[in-house]
Amino acid sequence: MLVDSYGRTVDYLRVSVTERCNFRCQYCMPEKPFSWVPKENLLSFEELFLFIKVAIDEGVKKIRITGGEPLLREDLDKFLKMIYDYKPDIDLAMTTNAFLLKGTAQRLKDAGLKRINVSIDTLKPEVALAIAQKDVLKNVLEGVNEALKVGLKVKVNMVPMKGMNDGEILDVLEYCKERNMSIRYIEYMENVHASVDIKGMKSDELLSIIGERYKFTDEGFEATSPSHGYKCEDGYKFGIIEPYKDDFCAKCNRIRLTAEGNLIPCLYFDEAMSIHDAVKRGDIQEAANVLKEVIRTKPEKNRWSEEDGEASNRAFYETGG
Ligand code: SAM
Ligand code: SF4
Repeated sequence: MLVDSYGRTVDYLRVSVTERCNFRCQYCMPEKPFSWVPKENLLSFEELFLFIKVAIDEGVKKIRITGGEPLLREDLDKFLKMIYDYKPDIDLAMTTNAFLLKGTAQRLKDAGLKRINVSIDTLKPEVALAIAQKDVLKNVLEGVNEALKVGLKVKVNMVPMKGMNDGEILDVLEYCKERNMSIRYIEYMENVHASVDIKGMKSDELLSIIGERYKFTDEGFEATSPSHGYKCEDGYKFGIIEPYKDDFCAKCNRIRLTAEGNLIPCLYFDEAMSIHDAVKRGDIQEAANVLKEVIRTKPEKNRWSEEDGEASNRAFYETGG
């Protein structure tokens, strides 16, 4: 079991398989990054799997594949199957923009994928074009339909932004509700890679808009999730992630691995340790040592709530959010 210095059990690993993406979401990577990590620096699926086996042996029970856009990486289904075959009861999930889900959802499900989180910021094609800087909505919605049809559980992430999709808070909620998918609104997190003129919305604004149509109760945090849960009178549940607060840190159970092998103990810290060389050499013991050191040094709280907290340098497309 992996237990950090503050007594928290870490059993959730998020694995970014690529930093590249077929979208250019304004809040994430509006311009082509100055330099992509060269392909030869990325870990192969075999190398990532070598570390994943170590992590599972040490007690990891949930793995989320993310990116960039994870579906850009060829043979992702084979990678999922490697993990599933090693530990069939692993909670295997993925976060995706859904653009490439149509035609692949069944293969991913058959490989052992159980759940997906999909980013849907708008239901208007022209707004989707403005946010992603590509005409994406049709493919995204078709991808979601197919995922539901093949029996994947689907959650939706929405980043509300003033003057962009602030008029669609309830529309996207209704779209999710009709399809039995829960929605989580993620407060926009400032970072140096995002467009400068984005204005995010805070949870009190979102709750006031939702309150115009629904009565809801505050359910508090969902287990170890950073999402603050709410329940409408009719039983529908939605969540809000408020990253600038740190009250979810006390239950944090996660670490992150980037596609080139950096192991990150906290999304809001710039520190990381690399397992790159260890897995390239096939040195399982060294990979396990780095994992334990990262757990030992996992910070108690995120740094963004500190008074001198600054916009993070780390890109979301690198860490996988
Ligand atoms: N490409 C996939 C997707 O968009 O779902 C997976 C990677 S993306 C980096 C993971 C999540 O991070 C998405 O839900 C996205 O909305 C969120 N995200 C990216 N940049 C963000 C920001 N600046 N503030 C809040 N959420 C952000
Ligand atoms: Fe790509 Fe996801 Fe970032 Fe959008 S949020 S640019 S889809 S990685």
